[in-house]
Order: sequence, then structure tokens, then C-alpha cells
Amino acid sequence: MTVLEVTGLRRSFAGLRAVDGVSFTVGQGEVVSVIGPNGSGKTTALNLVSGVLRPDSGRVGFLGRDVTGWRPERLAEAGLSRTFQNGRVFGNLSVAENVLIGLTSTLEAARPLARWRNVPVLRWASLLAETAVALVEPPSVRRESAERQAEVSAQLDRFGDRLTPRASDAAHTLSYANRRRTEIARALAASPALLVLDEPTAGMNPAETAEVLEQLLALKATGQTILLVEHKIDLVMRLSDRVLVLDAGAVIAAGTPDEVRTDPRVIEAYLGK
Ligand code: ADP
Repeated sequence: MTVLEVTGLRRSFAGLRAVDGVSFTVGQGEVVSVIGPNGSGKTTALNLVSGVLRPDSGRVGFLGRDVTGWRPERLAEAGLSRTFQNGRVFGNLSVAENVLIGLTSTLEAARPLARWRNVPVLRWASLLAETAVALVEPPSVRRESAERQAEVSAQLDRFGDRLTPRASDAAHTLSYANRRRTEIARALAASPALLVLDEPTAGMNPAETAEVLEQLLALKATGQTILLVEHKIDLVMRLSDRVLVLDAGAVIAAGTPDEVRTDPRVIEAYLGK
């Protein structure tokens, strides 16, 4: 089954064609990576797919539906979760509370929290989806059901002993790598049909990167469908089923890691640099 089907996606900024007719698919259980030089349109493509930006033209199909132009919160509710390059977490919430928020990424689940916070439910869902806001009063994990607490623990446990001992700590006290892990845990808490990761290891050292690679491989083994943008080519080659190479907003090659690695256009445009 095709989870994501992108057709002829275009987006310009003041005449600059950042994404210029990009088409690709992500199948169920596949890991598809987007690579390319700086400025080739990778993040813009991810933003178009996840509803952060609207395309000028083209179509985004998700689980058989036309979701072109949908807002991020509506996409999150439909099963598309993403993380951001800079690791957006709610700094004054604990690690566990950040993950709890991932569990509430459907409008229905957000309703009690929204009532409690006295904000309109759609606004609340939008805050959850964009996660660019600091909350004054965090939702309390202690008040949550045992089942939901177990789900939060399971997400934290994915990262070995990195997050679990920090579960009650405010996210702003975390190391950069742990903020990124928390963001991934929050995205996964929503059990997304598609997990979209924007440079999950950006800013991490080699040891941290190797650890995240192992965790992403474990996630892949569970059948999780993933679309990611990543600069670290070794990670891309080990993790991906298929790789999409962008240059100047266009797809110049697509295929398995081995096919892409040996493609002369890719070597010239990217790998050779
Ligand atoms: P990548 O992620 O591959 O580095 P981006 O998608 O960030 O590339 O950017 C593609 C091109 O679009 C670049 O030339 C960048 O400067 C431009 N661009 C991206 N976002 C904006 C924006 N919000 N306003 C103007 N130009 C942008």
C-alpha cells in the first residue's frame, strides 16, 4: 500500500523555485530518504508534505486521500507526525509530559486538555502540531491513566537509558541530543502512519549519531514507515530502502542506496563534492 504519494509538487519563494516539480511515493513500511546539497529544496519538500507550507501546485496524497494544503494539525490527526531540524520540545514540560502530548495529537484526545487549558480545541491541536509554544501549566502525567503512563514509558524506553531516568525533568534542562530524542518519542507516541524526520541527527556527534541510527533501524524493523531528510550519507545508506536525490529543487535520481550511490549525476551533483 502507498502511504504517501507526492505528484508534481512546486513551491517558489520570490521567483526562486525551491521545489520544482517533485514526485515520489513512500510505501507501507518503507524508509525513504531525501538527500541533496544545501539549498536543493529538501526542507521545503518536507514542509510541503507535512502541511507547514502550501504548494503552489502539485498534489499530496496520504493514505489514499488528497491532503494537499491540509494544515499540520489535520495531517497529524490523519496520522502524519513530524520532527523539526532544531528539536522543538515544550521546554517547561517534563520529558514524560512532552511525550504525553504526542498521545493527544488527535482532536478527540486533545479535547479534555484543551478544556482544562481553556483554549479552543482546534487552536490547541495546532499548538500541539507546531509545538512552538511554551505552556504555563503542564498537564500532569500523574493524573493520567496507567495505560497512558505505560505508553509514555514505552516510548521513553526506546532510547535505552537516555530518557527514562530524565522522565520527570523539565525538557529545557536536557542536552541537545536528548531534546531530539524526546521530540522523536513524542512524534511516535501518536502511532503515526508516517513519521517524517528532518535531519534527526543534526548537531549530534558520531557516537550519538550511531546510537540514533540503531534506534531508527529498530523502529524500521517494527514496520514503521519513515520519510527523512538527512545529510549524513552513511546513515542514509544503511537505513533507507530508497533514496531520492534533489538538486536545485528537482529529483535528479531515485532508487535503492546502491543505485543512487553509483549514479553519475548524483556523484557529480552531490556525493563528489
Ligand atoms: P535544503 O533543505 O535542501 O537545504 P531548502 O528547502 O531549505 O533547502 O531551501 C531551498 C531553497 O529555497 C533555498 O534557496 C532557500 O534559500 C530557499 N528558501 C527556503 N525557504 C525559504 C523562505 N521561507 N523564503 C525564501 N526562500 C526560501
